[in-house]
Amino acid sequence: MQNVDEILKIKNVKNTAIRTIVLRHLLKQDKAQSLKDIENSLIETDRSSIFRTLKTFVENKIIHSIEDGSGMTKYAVCAIDCNCELKDLHYHFYCNNCNKTFCLHEVPFKKIKLPENFKIQEANMVIKGLCNNCNK
Ligand SMILES: [Zn+2]
Ligand SMILES: [Zn+2]
Repeated sequence: MQNVDEILKIKNVKNTAIRTIVLRHLLKQDKAQSLKDIENSLIETDRSSIFRTLKTFVENKIIHSIEDGSGMTKYAVCAIDCNCELKDLHYHFYCNNCNKTFCLHEVPFKKIKLPENFKIQEANMVIKGLCNNCNK
């Protein structure tokens, strides 16, 4: 597991108690977390503080947000060298049974050929199916 202090330092984000708590929590997860998931795990932490912290983390490319179609934005920790550019993006997998969303870090985005004068600003590639746990 990566070190919280190290990540904040590399991404140039000031270390605060709440940032440490939220980032440490996110690093421990094997699936993407919604704001509600995080709130439910960190019950002693104020909701708006968690939300502000997530916003700071997204802005500084410590975490990325995922729209998986569930209606809840989910968050997962970025690779340390990630700049959230197109080349850094990867596919996500949404399990229709347990509603968990996973980062497929080993399945990077392929360069997509667009029609002339089209420009990508954002991309959310979500594959849906059954995760290894639900597919038993
Ligand atoms: Zn599942
Ligand atoms: Zn991801």
